[in-house]
Amino acid sequence: MQIKKDAVVSIHYTLTDNEGEILDTSEGQEPLAYLHGRGNLIPGLEKELEGKKEGDKLNVTIPPEDAYGIRDEQLVRKVSRSSFKEIQDLQPGMQFQSQSEKGLEIFTVTKIEGEDVTIDGNHALADATLTFDVEVTEIREATEEELAHGHVHGAGGHHH
Ligand code: ZN
Repeated sequence: MQIKKDAVVSIHYTLTDNEGEILDTSEGQEPLAYLHGRGNLIPGLEKELEGKKEGDKLNVTIPPEDAYGIRDEQLVRKVSRSSFKEIQDLQPGMQFQSQSEKGLEIFTVTKIEGEDVTIDGNHALADATLTFDVEVTEIREATEEELAHGHVHGAGGHHH
């Protein structure tokens, strides 16, 4: 079968940045399994994989707007230390999730100055042009349960 919406796709991939530095790879591990067309991969990569078959290899370069987005300075905010009351040892680099009207947001604490905590909602790879080396290793139909959850179960998937 070909890759289409709601197919379960397994890929081996290597992700490199502009300078050719490897940021992430599935080499030496199980292939990554994902549910196609549900936003589980960055949009640019899903678009390139659409219609591909088992055994297909591709090398694609994806601009930031189809990857993790353009850096948005409005996502950098100052909040009070008291917003993190329950965190004993708050440190720059810590990541948190918060529920907003746009859905789940992940932000990183970038600076702590007294009572002022600076948080950044940009993805660490915002503004990055990314190159993916991908091999499609398996394509199968999703189960009812996988479709209901919006992600893959079993080997290489979300939870077991
Ligand atoms: Zn699930």
